[in-house]
Amino acid sequence: MSNPYEARRPYYRAELAKGVERFLEPRRDTCPWCGSSELSIRLQTTDLIQRKPGRFTLEQCGVCQHIFQNPRLTPAGLDFYYRDFYEGLGQNLVEQAFDASDRAYQGRVDMVKRFTTPSAWLDVGTGYGHFCRFARRAWPGARFDGLDLGFSVEEAQRRGWIDRSYRGEFVTFTDELANRYDVVSMHHYLEHTREPFDELDAAAKILPSGGHLLIELPDPQSLFGHLFGRWWLPWFQPQHLHMIPIGNLTQALTDRGFSTVAIERGAAHQGAELFFALALALIAIAPNPQLPWLTDPPTRVKQLRRTLVWAAGRPLLAIAYLLDTLLSHIVRRTHGGNTYRLLACKNG
Ligand SMILES: [Zn+2]
Repeated sequence: MSNPYEARRPYYRAELAKGVERFLEPRRDTCPWCGSSELSIRLQTTDLIQRKPGRFTLEQCGVCQHIFQNPRLTPAGLDFYYRDFYEGLGQNLVEQAFDASDRAYQGRVDMVKRFTTPSAWLDVGTGYGHFCRFARRAWPGARFDGLDLGFSVEEAQRRGWIDRSYRGEFVTFTDELANRYDVVSMHHYLEHTREPFDELDAAAKILPSGGHLLIELPDPQSLFGHLFGRWWLPWFQPQHLHMIPIGNLTQALTDRGFSTVAIERGAAHQGAELFFALALALIAIAPNPQLPWLTDPPTRVKQLRRTLVWAAGRPLLAIAYLLDTLLSHIVRRTHGGNTYRLLACKNG
């Protein structure tokens, strides 16, 4: 069997030889949310997860507090940095994360249950359909369809976790999908999109009056974002292009004919701040030397170093996980969590 790292090396070598600066658009000097030019740098960082080359900046608007990647990745840049994350080399790892998300899935189900009984649900940004597989148990008679950009959505249909897959950009499906769903969900989706307003417009367009829109996002106002700085996982550079304060989102929904009917902040907290910060640090100290986008060749010394660093780090990760669990019990009683969840109803 061919080595998956070696098989990918020529592609990455060729791309990197052309430089990564071309993956960034020119920097914009106004806030994409409100248009203000009162911008300041919130965070400068690198790709701490995959360790692909490049530098990324998040700027914050002084008027509406929106945080956004500036300069933003081009479509070619998005293609380069998403490659081998949700598919290929990264697929097993992200599926493990999705498999371990039952608590969040249950929270979403419980929130919707209080307001409606869905008959047809569209999950935008569904990935491999893990959430839909979970939610079906609550509403076995409902139809669950999924939409995503990658092959994962077709895989979700093949596995039977969704009924039907739509592969492509949500905004291009609005005519086809109009009035076919009574619930649309976007879980950790909007922050990845280039134009979140267009995505909300599309949701408003396809939902009928009385239809519900469920949104879950990392909370940029979380205290943890300040405490952990660039080691806070939800900054998730370079994938997160927009970090949206909850007040901005509810206003954008009101502008589009929605009423927000439920909000959860602390209760939606996903925990594991310490665990992930430590994991990112271990990756920084000793990344997998085989990764095909690393410019230095893999050596035995680097492999040994990785083995030793992770052997030493594993017990620390276990301790961090325990501390996170304790911390989460407290945080879930506050508004300071790392995630918020919101349900909105389309007005008549
Ligand atoms: Zn703004």
